[in-house]
Amino acid sequence: MYWADELAASTAGPQVVNDSKSPSGTVHVGSLRGVVLHDAIHRALRAAGHESTFLYGVDDMDAMDSQALLTADAVDRYMGAPLSRVPAPPGSSAPNYARHFVGEIFFRTFEPLGIKPEFYWVSELYAEGKLDPYVKLALDRADRVRDIYKRVSHVERTSDWLPIQVICESCGKIGTTYATDWDGSTVAYRCLPDLVSWANGCGHEGRVSPLGGRAKLPWNLEWAAKWGLLGVTIEGCGKDLATAGGSRDRSDAISREVFEVEPPRNVAYEFLNVGGRKMSTSRGQGAAAHTIAEVLPPAQLRFLFLRPRPSQVIDFDPEGDTIPRLFDEFDRIAAATAGREVKGELPAEYDRLFAYSLPGEIHDVAAEASAFRPAFGHLALLLQIPGVDIAESMEAEKGAPLTDLEKAVLEERTASARAWLESYAPERARISVRHEALPDEASALDAGQKGYLAALASAADAEKPGSGDAWQALIFRVAGERELAAGRAFGALYAAFLGRSNGPRAGWLLASLEPEFVVERLRAAAG
Ligand SMILES: [Zn+2]
Repeated sequence: MYWADELAASTAGPQVVNDSKSPSGTVHVGSLRGVVLHDAIHRALRAAGHESTFLYGVDDMDAMDSQALLTADAVDRYMGAPLSRVPAPPGSSAPNYARHFVGEIFFRTFEPLGIKPEFYWVSELYAEGKLDPYVKLALDRADRVRDIYKRVSHVERTSDWLPIQVICESCGKIGTTYATDWDGSTVAYRCLPDLVSWANGCGHEGRVSPLGGRAKLPWNLEWAAKWGLLGVTIEGCGKDLATAGGSRDRSDAISREVFEVEPPRNVAYEFLNVGGRKMSTSRGQGAAAHTIAEVLPPAQLRFLFLRPRPSQVIDFDPEGDTIPRLFDEFDRIAAATAGREVKGELPAEYDRLFAYSLPGEIHDVAAEASAFRPAFGHLALLLQIPGVDIAESMEAEKGAPLTDLEKAVLEERTASARAWLESYAPERARISVRHEALPDEASALDAGQKGYLAALASAADAEKPGSGDAWQALIFRVAGERELAAGRAFGALYAAFLGRSNGPRAGWLLASLEPEFVVERLRAAAG
């Protein structure tokens, strides 16, 4: 069974799937793994007939801790302030930084991927008093919390430490305060200049009620409090949080021992490495999700995450042949789902993988699977040849007019191929056909290669191959007849048309050029 279906089959009763994110910084492609995975679980639950709710929490009470995202004059004032109280970047109409950020990620990445969770704002849960019972429990049982930190994670807290972060009444920061002395209704706190290295507290001291949005729980407690409040039954997390004694273990123990709630089921997932680097969070360099989304349409981006099991690392290097290969593999799975015979081994439940890769729940999977999908490499080639009518050559390739669905796929792929050529394509995929004159490189061809080109010219003149596949077959057939190794046959073609020794699939190349020009050039190169 496909892993998400397997998970769905092992649950009973209504399910609440939760995922969350601190709204700071750009969303990197690796951090999409979590949300795509939770979406697939939600869809699998519904497909299995379960009631399922998919929640996405925005941790907007977290402290702003990234200078790079603020204008220079705002750094001193807002570093350490709750994200819900940091103004949106200049030019944005959003009421605050967190709302701006979520609007961005939603419209740029979630919506195109067909992911539609119910968003909630942690600052609102606090402000409405919904998390107050958990805040009180955490403070009443602070000794248990300290004990869990020590026992589960070997983190020692001083005996006056309280699991609460107060918003300073003087400077409005939350990352800089240290609270002590819970008396059942208020805590004492100090806003310290040097509690953290990345923000400066103002030195204010006071007492305040930690309820009603004036304070937040530290991250591990907040996580567990959300599970209790929202009744979360399934929430996966990245491998970095799921290690023994790590964050997840700590939150699980807090959930059970402090809040007395059974924690949700975990689905630990591995990282996506971009060009060998770990990409699990919004920090650090690497490929921004919206940049990768320019070269990978939604279905292929979902496919990238859903093809391996959650426990498998994904190595994704957008350079080289990675992207064309991902398209080719997607097309192979589509063809298999449509019942066509394909080469190579297929993953288990490939048809479920295909269905979950389509963005959104409602699809005619059979129609999507059997649609004509132009090979990515072929499109990238056509885009570089002046005067080619892409829709026309794709109809020739298919041998019938394109349906509306196929036209949409073609349009989407054309945009992707164009973006790929501009960004990640290797040199070998970038070509320039030498229309004006026979390249010098062709004069270095030997007698065997020249004889091959002459024979291919006659065969093409007689048979008039129309499609890339027909050309490719003819190229191989004539090479076989002349007992010329395929590599040398292709080398001769690349020399004659591109003036170099390598290139994209030769059948596609010749099919995209004027037939008279091809025959003429073959004869010229043959001497
Ligand atoms: Zn302060």
